[in-house]
Amino acid sequence: MSTARDFDVAVIGGGLVGSAIAWGLAKVGQRVAVLDEGDIAFRASRGNFALVWVQSKGLGMPEYAGWTVRSSEAWGGFADALQTQTGIDVSHQRPGGFHLALSERELEQREQVLKRLHNQPAMQRYDWEIMDRERVRQALPQIGPEVVGASYCPLDGHVNSLRLFRALHTGMQQLGVTYLPNHAVDGIEHRNGEFIIRSAGGEVRSAKLVLAAGNGNARLGPMVGLDVPVRPQRGQIVVTEKAAPFLNYPVVTVRQTDEGGVMLGDSLEEAGFDPTVGTGVISMIADRAVRMFPQLARLNVVRSWAALRVMTKDGFPIYDHSATCPGAFVATCHSGVTLAANHALALAPLIAAGRLPSEQFEVFSARRFHVPAAA
Ligand SMILES: Cc1cc2nc3c(=O)[nH]c(=O)nc-3n(C[C@H](O)[C@H](O)[C@H](O)COP(=O)(O)OP(=O)(O)OC[C@H]3O[C@@H](n4cnc5c(N)ncnc54)[C@H](O)[C@@H]3O)c2cc1C
Repeated sequence: MSTARDFDVAVIGGGLVGSAIAWGLAKVGQRVAVLDEGDIAFRASRGNFALVWVQSKGLGMPEYAGWTVRSSEAWGGFADALQTQTGIDVSHQRPGGFHLALSERELEQREQVLKRLHNQPAMQRYDWEIMDRERVRQALPQIGPEVVGASYCPLDGHVNSLRLFRALHTGMQQLGVTYLPNHAVDGIEHRNGEFIIRSAGGEVRSAKLVLAAGNGNARLGPMVGLDVPVRPQRGQIVVTEKAAPFLNYPVVTVRQTDEGGVMLGDSLEEAGFDPTVGTGVISMIADRAVRMFPQLARLNVVRSWAALRVMTKDGFPIYDHSATCPGAFVATCHSGVTLAANHALALAPLIAAGRLPSEQFEVFSARRFHVPAAA
C-alpha cells in the first residue's frame, strides 16, 4: 500500500547516525520521518565497541580531530539530555583512556604516531601523554608483565551503546519523529523542490533529505547527486561473562561495561558484506587481551560477533550537501558512537537551517576524493 506523507526532513537509515540526527532535528522543531530497513539489515550500530574516543583520530585531517574533540566535550550534556527526556541512562563515562603497548617497539611506534598527529599545523591542542609501565600500573593495577607502557588521553571515554541506540529511538519518537521500519528505499526523485522517496513500505515526501544509511549510502547517493564512496569493513568482538569491576578506564581494545562483562576487540578486516565470525581472529583478540590483563583467562566467553563498519578510503567522515538537489545531505562515518553528540547537537541544526557552512564542512566533502590521477 502506498501512503503520501509530508515531512520537513526524511532521514534514510535508523542506525546511530540517522537516529542521532533525527533526534537533533526534532529538538529544533522539524517534522521528521526516519525510513529504515528491517530487523536483519546490516547495521554497524548493533555491533560496536562503544568507545567515545579521541586519541589517534585525525592523522591526515586535523579538522577531524577537532570535530572529535568537540563531540567528546559535548557528550556529557548529551547523555544528560537523553536521560532527562527518556529516563534511559546511557552510562557515559569519561575517565580518560589507554592504548597499551606490549613491546618497546609498539610503544615507540605509538609515540611517533601521536607526535605526527599533534605536529599537524591546524591541529587542535589537547592533553595526551606516553606513560611508562609503572605509571600505567598505578591506574590499571591488573596489567600483565608484558605491558611496557601506554598512551593516555583524558578526553577518552565510553558508553553503553545499545542503551544509547534505545535512548535515541525512544527520544526521537517522543519528540514526534515518525519511525518507519521495513521501508527499504529503492528510489528518490527530486521534483519541484520536493523529495519523493520510494520504499518497500510506500512513498514518503519531504522538503529535505538526509542520507544516513551507512553502507547503503553508496547506492543512494547518486540518486540525489551525491558521491558517497563507502565500503564495509568487518570488526569482530568477544564478550566475557560478568565480573566484579576491575577496569577503571577503557583501553582501546579491552573495556569493562557498566554491567560487568568485558568486551575485547576489535579487528579490521576487508571481507565485503560478510559478517561471519572467524575463530582465528577471535583467538588473536583474546590472546592479546589476556597478555594485557592475565586475569581475563579465568573468565568464560559468553558471546562473540562480527559487524560491518562504514569506511571511506581515508577513514574520515563524509558530510556533504548536494549541488544538484538542494536540500539533500549525507552523513556517514566510522565512529558513530563518538560523534553522536555532534550529529545531534551540531549537525542537525545546520541541516534544519538548510546549509553546511563550507568553511567548516568543505574538508569533509567527498570532493576530496575527486583528485585527478597523477600523470
Ligand atoms: C566492530 C565495530 C566496532 C566499532 N566500535 C566503535 C567505537 O568504539 N566507537 C565508535 O564511535 N564507533 C564504533 N563503531 C562504529 C559505529 O558503530 C558506527 O559508526 C555507527 O553504528 C554508525 O552507523 P550508521 O548509522 O552510519 O550505520 P548503520 O548502523 O549501518 O545504520 C545504517 C542504517 O541504514 C539502514 N539502511 C541502509 N540502506 C537503506 C535503505 N536503502 N533504505 C532504508 N534504510 C537503509 C540500515 O538498515 C541501517 O539501519 C564500530 C563499528 C563496528 C562494526
